[in-house]
Amino acid sequence: MGLLIVGTVALDSVETPFGKADRVLGGSGTFASFAASFFSVPKLVGVVGEDFPESYLELLRSRAVDTAGVVKEKGKTFYWAGKYETDVNVRTTLTTELNVLQTFNPVIPEKFRDSSYLFLANIDPKLQLKVLDQCSGLKFTVMDTMNYWIENTREALDRVLGRVDAVLLNDEEARMLTGTPVLQKAADSILKSFPSMKIVIIKKGEHGAMMFSREGFFALPGYPLDVVKDPTGAGDSFAGGFIGWISRADSTDEVTLRQAVAAGSATASFCCEDFSVDRFRTLDSSELKRRAASIRNCTEFASLDW
Ligand code: AMP
Repeated sequence: MGLLIVGTVALDSVETPFGKADRVLGGSGTFASFAASFFSVPKLVGVVGEDFPESYLELLRSRAVDTAGVVKEKGKTFYWAGKYETDVNVRTTLTTELNVLQTFNPVIPEKFRDSSYLFLANIDPKLQLKVLDQCSGLKFTVMDTMNYWIENTREALDRVLGRVDAVLLNDEEARMLTGTPVLQKAADSILKSFPSMKIVIIKKGEHGAMMFSREGFFALPGYPLDVVKDPTGAGDSFAGGFIGWISRADSTDEVTLRQAVAAGSATASFCCEDFSVDRFRTLDSSELKRRAASIRNCTEFASLDW
């Protein structure tokens, strides 16, 4: 039952053209959980170090995220620092300190093991495999990854790709994974290489997201934001909104999957409006509903009958 999310819980330092934030709450599992919490009740599994502020765990719990699977280990929390250019689609990673993540062995609490929906957020594919081995009764699993794992742990990554229902990639990762510059061909190649894969989602930052399946194609543009302060975690928030919606609907039919892309896009757009998870602290469902409605509005048009 329910939704399980496994990923990093981090301290991030971020610099964007609009300001700076130092050692704030971040991590792929964190952003995905916040985003999913608007639709479902996520159960988060991850690791933090002794320096991780208790108030950050309380913040997750204040959004009804079940943090029973977040363990505290001796040492420092995973730390990531990045800097964005004027074009915020361009990001440089300044520091990645694995710290407690280096020896992390994800143990899924007994009460989480029968989850129906799973999001394997960006983390070492060897750990993603360990998570899959501990879960039974999964109805739909979505995974994320990044260029580092594509380049350095390809064998383990391919094994994860062969065991999930959906993969989320950005355009650069899709090209790197498949060696083709054409995104449609990249998605096709992933669907062909991994017979149990049903959905390939290619995210294009502020330009939106494309969903490819064996039946067809669906896409949404990015929501045109007035305020962008920090896009860190937007991809993870898209994923959280996407799987959160699916878990809420308890369905993976085409209608639900398209709604899930809209839920992901709407949630990710809010993530960019402030640093860390700050925008999610004040966001309420009515604002999210209004944004989903405007995304729907700006993508509808009458059929061209002539
Ligand atoms: P995104 O902007 O969606 O790509 O995600 C940014 C988040 O990913 C930040 O909060 C980081 O803490 C986290 N992150 C950065 N590098 C890694 C990594 N190698 N593995 C897992 N999470 C990471």
